[in-house]
Amino acid sequence: MAVRNISDVNPNDNAAPLEVRVIRTWQPFLFQNEHCYLFVDSRGDAIEAYGNRRDKALFESKFSVGLCYRISKYLSKKARNSHNVVPSNATIHLGRSTVFEPIVGVDIPHQYFNFMPYESLRARENMHFLLTDYIGRFDRFTSDTRTTSGKRLMKFLLEDANERFIEVALWEEIADAVDKEALVNTPFPCIVAVTSMKVLRFKNLQLASTAATHLYGNPTIQDASDLANRFRERYAGINMDDRYTLPIANILAKNPVDYMEVKFSCIASIVSYNPRRSWFYKGCTVCKKKLGSREDALICDDHHDAPQPKYLYCINCTIADSTGNATVTIFDIPFQSVIKIPCNELVIQQGYTDSMTTPDVFSKLLGVSHMFKLQFNDRAHTGFTQFVANEVLEYVPVMNEVAVNEVVVNPTITEVSDPADVENQHATQPLENPPTNVALETTVKQVPFTPVTPAKIYTTKRQLFALSGEGSNKAPKTNAP
Ligand SMILES: [Zn+2]
Repeated sequence: MAVRNISDVNPNDNAAPLEVRVIRTWQPFLFQNEHCYLFVDSRGDAIEAYGNRRDKALFESKFSVGLCYRISKYLSKKARNSHNVVPSNATIHLGRSTVFEPIVGVDIPHQYFNFMPYESLRARENMHFLLTDYIGRFDRFTSDTRTTSGKRLMKFLLEDANERFIEVALWEEIADAVDKEALVNTPFPCIVAVTSMKVLRFKNLQLASTAATHLYGNPTIQDASDLANRFRERYAGINMDDRYTLPIANILAKNPVDYMEVKFSCIASIVSYNPRRSWFYKGCTVCKKKLGSREDALICDDHHDAPQPKYLYCINCTIADSTGNATVTIFDIPFQSVIKIPCNELVIQQGYTDSMTTPDVFSKLLGVSHMFKLQFNDRAHTGFTQFVANEVLEYVPVMNEVAVNEVVVNPTITEVSDPADVENQHATQPLENPPTNVALETTVKQVPFTPVTPAKIYTTKRQLFALSGEGSNKAPKTNAP
């Protein structure tokens, strides 16, 4: 029987032989009785194959991941209702009698990707019929913790060709398989491809791993070398640690949706305190959250037995530099670091008990330059400021300093109106005081990067850099239920 192309396989048709390379294997979480494999053919199309989990040892005595086979005596079935890793309307069901004949000398790709561009991710939010492959520049790890149920959860940021960041969350054994040190130490730019991700939303969009997820560091594919070249061109001569040290106008010109994860720095000074906002709140001594009223006592939802509450700063102010101004919320620790007096002392010892009247000592900061570390404010409870300051540092000007690395173009200065709804303001200390960016190796700019991409060693069904963009991409063949 003639060999069939993967693209011609339909559910329930006759099992014409396939000639494929086995490129991945995984044990799905959702379909516990199955074991899965990904096959790719000489045309670069891929199809998912699965068999009963109890037969895994039998299958793997017949074939090995990475090698090529002529496969016959299988069943073709409809694609799953969810968690498909490739856009095929069929899957291959392997049975005990399925035949695998090794073949050599065939030109079949070693990898398969179906990258989605950043702008298409939103449409996939919580839609898991087809999982998502994505490629970007590894920026930094943002956390690596265990959840309350004891599961490991590692997060990092990927940046796309247009400077947009997305959080990648890897669970359990997918996280365990990542060599963190190697990623952090890879010379700039470290390109990472992740496969078979779910698109979720917590605060922002997130790519979350599935059992089928694989992570490739600097894959030897054209998309990766194109992306690396773009980053090299864009950041030639720029210290990556300083690239988000910008004038206020340039920070305001960024779209918050795409920059929620970025920590900006700017050199600015406080020009006014918002007289319609309380400058302190009574917080829990354990978690610093604002206390709630319970009859005639103030208590923390999470720490009913916490000792004596403390007064904590929650400063709503306007900062300015020569390019513009911005409204900022500064919480207790960063504000205390520059005002040099604890909030509790001002309120209790010095008697500044009126939360709407700022103490005289605050005026000493007006007009004094500081380095503000800002993030776009996505915390509704912090009021209507544009930014939250995670850190405020003393600023010592350096002679001949080039403070910024980006030219101000069309400064857009936005004043945000601020409904004086002070009673409903739930001032909450940021849960974390995140460390500054994990420094990537930025001194090594001209590391030889050899995008060795032999013909057909990989295949991508979507061209991220196609001139005509997403519209020209091959539409996934799906039979969505
Ligand atoms: Zn608490």
